[in-house]
Amino acid sequence: MAKPGYHFLARFSGSITHSQSKMEGDNSYMFGPYKIDNKQVFYSTHLSYALVNLRPLLPGHVLVCPRREVQRFAELTADETSDLWLTAQKVGKQLESYHKASSLTFAIQDGPQAGQTVPHVHIHIIPCKSGDFEKNDEIYDALDVKEKEMKQSLDLDKERKDRGIEEMAEEADEYRKLF
Ligand code: AMP
Repeated sequence: MAKPGYHFLARFSGSITHSQSKMEGDNSYMFGPYKIDNKQVFYSTHLSYALVNLRPLLPGHVLVCPRREVQRFAELTADETSDLWLTAQKVGKQLESYHKASSLTFAIQDGPQAGQTVPHVHIHIIPCKSGDFEKNDEIYDALDVKEKEMKQSLDLDKERKDRGIEEMAEEADEYRKLF
């Protein structure tokens, strides 16, 4: 799994749950049960949006979501799926360059048993550089908080605190200039 270059992971597990579909208005974004402040959103299309992370694992760790709130990847339409990945490609390219990184992790935790904690499809995009982790694949343990707690192998979460809206807005302002 630990190969240089673009790094993709999608873990699939559990049954498909048909959460109520809901489309928010153009100026309002929901991320599962959370209302997202527009200041956190730095890029959007008619079907997807990209937001800065409340608890980034590394600088530039952002999320790309469908505007429509569905929990599982299989619930997305073909247009939503295509738009989501094209958005992720565009966002990843800009953020890798902005953070002077050399690789990208794209990850979906698709369902609770795969480590999903927010029941709204989202692609994690994480710009990576050499030396970020001792072993490249530790990034997946770091993403999977539950697994990490069980393994007690990484101490990152102790230092990870929810960020304030000012800090997130400042980061999103920088990223908005890239598009
Ligand atoms: P997962 O465990 O794959 O469902 O990932 C959830 C991600 O959402 C984590 O990276 C969290 O830090 C992030 N997150 C949770 N709530 C918010 C929020 N209100 N705004 C931005 N990111 C969030």
